[in-house]
Amino acid sequence: MTPTVRELLASERPTWSFEFFPPKTPDGEAQLWTALRRLEALRPSFVSVTYGAGGSTREGTVSVTERIATETTMTPMAHLTAVDHSIAELRHVISRLADAGVRTIMALRGDPPGSDPQAEWIAHPQGLNYASELVELIKSMGDFSVGVAAFPERHPRSPDFDTDVDMFVAKCRAGADFAVTQMFFRAEDYLRMRDRVAARGCDVPIVAGIMPVTNAKQIKRIVQLSGQAFPAELAERFEALDGESPEAKAAVRAYGVEVATELCRTLLDEGVPGIHFITMNRSTATAEVYANLAGATAVTPAR
Ligand code: FAD
Repeated sequence: MTPTVRELLASERPTWSFEFFPPKTPDGEAQLWTALRRLEALRPSFVSVTYGAGGSTREGTVSVTERIATETTMTPMAHLTAVDHSIAELRHVISRLADAGVRTIMALRGDPPGSDPQAEWIAHPQGLNYASELVELIKSMGDFSVGVAAFPERHPRSPDFDTDVDMFVAKCRAGADFAVTQMFFRAEDYLRMRDRVAARGCDVPIVAGIMPVTNAKQIKRIVQLSGQAFPAELAERFEALDGESPEAKAAVRAYGVEVATELCRTLLDEGVPGIHFITMNRSTATAEVYANLAGATAVTPAR
């Protein structure tokens, strides 16, 4: 049986993990499996598959996670959201994941369906309102390891940082074993949140979510999806390097890898329990950051 993320975080730190999304097309499926197989060679602690907003990508989360569990050497984690699901439907998905051998689930409220993640949240009439309720539901159904989301710059809907930290701690006390952060680009944001959480007596390990920027257009999308500002000085540097020539594109990419490497280095020096790369279903940039860290800090793969 593969270990859970709770067990991995108890036995080997830092953990190294990679996040993928379920593909929508056969080409996307091929790209995903190429990236998964390449990154498998790095022997990550675990890999995760996000949960789509609806329809076929949701099926994809279950089937991709199941295939990782049965056909690869990697430990899978499935994301699950409360969006548009009754409690009965959530129970059904959790049972299917358990049957597929998935023992770790990331419990999320999710964003409202549609293209605007900042739109008003509306719960399903027979569903759940907050991620903490999903944590409790998953825990009530078996010995799962459960992760939750953390927001170094606070959740965009929270009125202020301290309220956000209070809600995060409540979510941990509902039974979460670990957390993974929203992507962030300044180590100090992570460290401030970690210290505020610790000051409330909560010691749930908070794994850092890192996304290497590989093209300047991504930045706009990052801001839109996360509801968080991208540091102005970094955005300016990416903009200055950007251009249509292959050299300009390569320069942006190289700078993205450098920025992510430096961020990870600072976090590792600060004792971060794990690094979780958001791969966008591509392997190269993540593998480069990982190689930089493995070479420079003598970090060895977790397993
Ligand atoms: P919650 O913890 O429920 O928080 C939502 C808001 O409600 C926050 O402002 C919080 O402070 C507040 N709140 C919480 N509890 C209470 C309470 N009891 N009373 C009052 N207010 C409260 N989305 C997807 O659709 N699919 C994915 O796979 C996915 N993966 C993600 C992975 C990570 C690591 C992260 C960071 C985010 C991910 N998301 C994903 C996005 C996530 O679903 C959204 O950010 C969503 O808006 C918040 O989800 P949550 O689980 O943090 O919600």
